[in-house]
Amino acid sequence: MTGLEGVLFDIDDTLVATREAFGHAWSATARRYLPDLPPERDAELVTMWREDINGHYSAYTRGEVGYVEQRLARANEVHAAFGGPVLDAGTFDEWDAVFDGGFRAAWVAHDDASAVVDALLAAGLAVGALSNASVAYQTDKLERSGLLARVPMLVGVDTLGFGKPDARVFLEACRLLGTDPARTAYVGDELDVDAVAARDAGLVGIWVDRPGGRRHAISDAEIAEADVTTIASLDELPGVLGLLGISAGTPATRA
Ligand SMILES: [Mg+2]
Repeated sequence: MTGLEGVLFDIDDTLVATREAFGHAWSATARRYLPDLPPERDAELVTMWREDINGHYSAYTRGEVGYVEQRLARANEVHAAFGGPVLDAGTFDEWDAVFDGGFRAAWVAHDDASAVVDALLAAGLAVGALSNASVAYQTDKLERSGLLARVPMLVGVDTLGFGKPDARVFLEACRLLGTDPARTAYVGDELDVDAVAARDAGLVGIWVDRPGGRRHAISDAEIAEADVTTIASLDELPGVLGLLGISAGTPATRA
């Protein structure tokens, strides 16, 4: 890849181990609100939460519903499926203190994140983050994960009032990063709203498809049709960006 100027990252399940953090959040929440659920079934809660089959979070990223509204709806769907109480505006805050407290306490970077960020910066590339959560929330998440000093939070769902897959958020992130979109890679864990949407916006879309990380089943035909560069770990990123050798400690060169 010649002339690469920058790399933008998704945050959740790309730089930060969000799925694992939701595991902590749901374990804390289940002991309080789903006391009859055996802990060995907690993973089912996380699966249902991440699938969000009724698309509440997607509606939030389109600016159609508020943050609390989507989280309350999703919480009630999980409670309904697993025998928990119906939450309302009056009980949500107490629930979310347990849930979000467990979530925040478990925010850590993926094991492969820090070294690859260092390698990209050493290669002279601009690096930043574009996420479908709010700027303040994700700034806190990057800081607690030890990444914020190297990966500024540039664009969130509240920057323009909507999020990915809209092309405008990718272009705004490139503007803030100071890079030409065609010379900017976007790396994310979701095939459609990350890699394909970035490519459709004129960036270089890269899908990080970690083993066991998919929110939904994705067919081989869908992957073939998407036709984006796919990696199984961020360790592979310097290689696919043409920065081979940097992670092995050789002198950095601009690709
Ligand atoms: Mg993500």
